[in-house]
Amino acid sequence: METNLWGQYSEEEKSQIMNFCEDYRKFLSACKTERECVHYAVTEAEKHGFKSLDKILAENGKLSAGDKVYAVNMDKSVVLCVLGTESMENGLNIVGAHIDSPRIDLKANPFFESEGFCMLDTHYYGGIKKYQWIALPLALHGVICKKDGTTENIVFGEGDDPVLGISDLLPHLDKDDKKDIKGEDLNILGGNMADEKADKKKFTQFILNLLKEKNITEEDFFSSEIEIVPAGNARNFGLDNSMIMAYGHDDRVCAYTGLKALFEIENPKQTAVNILVDKEEIGSVGATGMHSKFFENILAEIMNLRGEYSELSMRRCLAKSNMLSSDVTAAVDPNYLTPFNLLTDAEFAKGISFNKFTGSRGKSGANDANPEYIAKLRACLDEAKVTYQATEMGKVDQGGGGTIAYIMAKYGMNVIDAGVPVLNMHAPWEIVSKADVYEAYKCYKAFYKI
Ligand code: MN
Ligand code: MN
Repeated sequence: METNLWGQYSEEEKSQIMNFCEDYRKFLSACKTERECVHYAVTEAEKHGFKSLDKILAENGKLSAGDKVYAVNMDKSVVLCVLGTESMENGLNIVGAHIDSPRIDLKANPFFESEGFCMLDTHYYGGIKKYQWIALPLALHGVICKKDGTTENIVFGEGDDPVLGISDLLPHLDKDDKKDIKGEDLNILGGNMADEKADKKKFTQFILNLLKEKNITEEDFFSSEIEIVPAGNARNFGLDNSMIMAYGHDDRVCAYTGLKALFEIENPKQTAVNILVDKEEIGSVGATGMHSKFFENILAEIMNLRGEYSELSMRRCLAKSNMLSSDVTAAVDPNYLTPFNLLTDAEFAKGISFNKFTGSRGKSGANDANPEYIAKLRACLDEAKVTYQATEMGKVDQGGGGTIAYIMAKYGMNVIDAGVPVLNMHAPWEIVSKADVYEAYKCYKAFYKI
């Protein structure tokens, strides 16, 4: 195990890390949903010379070595490629991360009222400890799609906006352990002013009147996708400013570093690919999750535009690819040592963390990476002077988790989990070490050219 990185960096490296992480922090403050992350990725990609696949197809264009191309899936996932000089049949170097994070979603018919309040009903998304999401400022981010085909982008609760939240009982009256909060108890307090002219639901009507001024009706919420996330900016953390506290490090820390690294890649030998995907937190399901055929479809289109497509070539391409399933892992928490194995679990400021396998209780559900592949990675990372740690997540019988690794491994490609250690994972405010963020960026950059 490496020792703490901060003692090893030069002053120049430290300032590079701080600068890199300052941009990461701004990204986190601005991008709290999949859609916001996709929008960011596309805007930045275009600045770096990437072209839209849809546009190339519409113009009957072609693709060749050195070209940079991106494809967006339903505004919630995106694939970006820098085309290599070698035929794609020889495989890709893929860094894949997810851009959805645990949160609370608004229901499709959210409005109800109780005791003089307009309330908003919710359904949480992903694995959350429910008590962590009450009594803190929350914001709404999302879209409302209307029957006329237009879409309203919604951001409410950021900057100097009013915020929203879920109330909690005062300790004086809380005789039960209120940590056992049910999903149905996660109701947002929406407002407390009444429309005295309304015959019923006066408090809801008051809010609906405000929405009407923006041409939004109660029925429009059926075709909405509104995510309730912690309000406010990502913050530097620690008396030494060595960490960042933010919503959604899982897994935007790997998404951001993988994307930034791809922007540095010019004319690689093998095609370099960054996949930013949705729905990992609920099983990678649906049209925008990793289980969808989107990636394969895009690959077929790109190979076709290079004059390299056949079903067989595509299968060979997938089977010969290398992948980093870039997802966060649990860092040893000094306040809660019990579930950790201090010899094998990830620690802060010791570099990017490689989990050879994930899964739980006897590797169940794991992608177990091949040692031949890991040896190749070690050679690549050592040459690029990347600091990494070989880790597990918790004690053997403690539990575990999964990522998108096993889904890609299905194609017969080499896949390993590699990501940034996180404290407070899945809490509204998660923490990472800036040193590990930077080592992840260095790792992905070296890997694209492995
Ligand atoms: Mn994750
Ligand atoms: Mn997660």
